[in-house]
Amino acid sequence: MKKLSIALLPGDGIGMEVVPAARKVLEKSGAAAGVHLSFEQFDWGSDHYFRMGQMMPVDALERLRAHDSILLGAVGHPDIPDHITLNGMLLPIRRGFDLYVNERPAYLYAGVESPLRGYEPGAIDMVVVRENTEGEYTNVGGFVYHHLPEEVAIQTSVFTRHGCERIIRYAFDLARRRNQKRKVASITKSNAQGYGMVLWDRIFREVSAEYPDIETESLLVDAAAMNFVRRPASFDVVVASNLFGDILSDLSAIVTGSIGLAPSANLDPRRNAPSLFEPVHGSAPDIAGKGVSNPLATILAAAMMMDHLGEPEMSASIEGAVRAVLADGKVLTADLGGRSTTADVTAAVLAHLA
Ligand code: ATP
Ligand code: MG
Repeated sequence: MKKLSIALLPGDGIGMEVVPAARKVLEKSGAAAGVHLSFEQFDWGSDHYFRMGQMMPVDALERLRAHDSILLGAVGHPDIPDHITLNGMLLPIRRGFDLYVNERPAYLYAGVESPLRGYEPGAIDMVVVRENTEGEYTNVGGFVYHHLPEEVAIQTSVFTRHGCERIIRYAFDLARRRNQKRKVASITKSNAQGYGMVLWDRIFREVSAEYPDIETESLLVDAAAMNFVRRPASFDVVVASNLFGDILSDLSAIVTGSIGLAPSANLDPRRNAPSLFEPVHGSAPDIAGKGVSNPLATILAAAMMMDHLGEPEMSASIEGAVRAVLADGKVLTADLGGRSTTADVTAAVLAHLA
């Protein structure tokens, strides 16, 4: 029997509701597929910060490294500034394990209404591939006020050939593997950002020459934002820098219905470290503890995880159960226009797994 061990990091807020929901789904689907899944849960996050002064212990990465994969809920607390929660937990894992790919699929499921009219189920089917380790989020710079009466802040982006090349190559490989529209769109703002993004554009052209079977398009980020709304069905794989990928993947998530449905994967394609799977949404303090959060984004993230762990059939069966619940339209949480609870939706997914 194949054995896989999963680290669970429910984290904060609704993370503590949606991760246990996904665990139930994984347990049932693993048992059916003959895959033995073991789980270790780490109660790191804001409560840990209040108790210990740190979001997670110093040996956290070592302890996570013992697992095949990580499933995270969310980190964030209204009483702790975002830079502390993010820099205390999510970013050290992404950077420490060099999880340089952030893959965010957006798919319009049957039974889900897009704010854009006229799209059939499946017509919008894209993946935003966000660079996850450098670019605009390198946070190099400083406040410059010694010699000037005005306040001046400098914020530098860092683009390396290594960083651009590996994320762009991943996007082309993904377009081949998906075998959908076989297209990669690259997003920059190289008319105004004359160095890093010019390097990105140049590397995109170089790498594209190695993939003559894949169609390409280069868009400025403003045009891309417009086209995500005007012609979302034309996109397949979209590759973008850290900042632009962050923004565009919120847009692609809402265009396909709800942030409560959007999964994401932080991947190390070389598999030197465990990859991390999570919903795109955050801890949602406004609804936390009420049992009404939508668990489907995390359940879909668990499906992505099983695919990455070499269990595509488990992945497909979990996604199929989610599809069935959505198409039924009877058991939905409030973000999708329903009145059901997290537990109801989880039970409905489990029933469809049978
Ligand atoms: P964080 O600081 O952790 O990012 P946030 O409140 O800034 O939290 P989100 O958690 O992404 O951001 O929430 C944005 C909005 O979407 C909130 O109003 C929240 O209630 C809603 N929302 C997010 N996730 C879900 C979900 N899984 N189910 C239902 N509603 C959700
Ligand atoms: Mg937030």
